[in-house]
Amino acid sequence: MLLPQPGQKTVTVSGNALTQLEANYRVEKVKRPNLSFATFISESALIELERRKILKEARFISLVSFGDDTVILKDVRKDGRLIEVQIRNRKLKCISEDKFDCIHVGFALALPELRKQLTEKESI
Ligand SMILES: [Zn+2]
Repeated sequence: MLLPQPGQKTVTVSGNALTQLEANYRVEKVKRPNLSFATFISESALIELERRKILKEARFISLVSFGDDTVILKDVRKDGRLIEVQIRNRKLKCISEDKFDCIHVGFALALPELRKQLTEKESI
């Protein structure tokens, strides 16, 4: 095994966690044959951290209405102003902030209604 270089860190995973991670890795590797176990683990960790951040921020956001190409949200941190997220070509954009990657886009993407709509459009 290689010793860690500067800017790297070695971690040990064992037991039940390792068994579960390896099972998930095997599933993912079918879709992405070049994926290494190390890359899989670091990607998964980053996704989970992002998910936690979104969940933490999502407490301030609620769904107001859901249309064909827009999602209207309310963010209590923005003085209860309504936030418009536009869906165009299956891409989401927060009109209120002019951003593609803010919490409002993340929140909208997590809505089951939106996932359903995007999947239906895909199959047409
Ligand atoms: Zn936003």
